[in-house]
Amino acid sequence: MNLEGKELGELFRLADEIGGKRYHRLTPQDFEDYRRFDYWRYVSGDFECGTTQESKDWVKDHSDWDCPICEKSYSKTGGKTIDHKLPRAQYPWLSLNFENLWVICRACNQRKGDMHWYEYEHYMFTRYPVLYLAVKSARPSKLLRSLNDQTNPETIR
Ligand SMILES: [Zn+2]
Repeated sequence: MNLEGKELGELFRLADEIGGKRYHRLTPQDFEDYRRFDYWRYVSGDFECGTTQESKDWVKDHSDWDCPICEKSYSKTGGKTIDHKLPRAQYPWLSLNFENLWVICRACNQRKGDMHWYEYEHYMFTRYPVLYLAVKSARPSKLLRSLNDQTNPETIR
């Protein structure tokens, strides 16, 4: 494990900048995107693993017996949940971007909450160092780079 504090500090600064700027520029389309995920996931109710056939199939195709973070069996950690690597509350336009979705256990999902990705990495690095590499290897680099592009004020999307 070799993560320089400097690198992480820089990433946090960037995350703040992106989050701060974007948050005040949410459009009606962003909210529509946010809702699209619900239509995809639920027939009814608030079942975190999904209740539409499509979302159930997706979960099946993108998960194993064990959670990719804590490596515990889903049956022992409250079951499977669909998580947004970059929280959709902050990045609604990534709500139904499949590069942004992964299946993790309920316990890990609750721990992650609505943290920004780098905040989450930092949290795991300091609190659960043994699990950090699993989180780091799941880093959505391409999406994070796309956020970086949007820090240019001339770029709408
Ligand atoms: Zn887990």
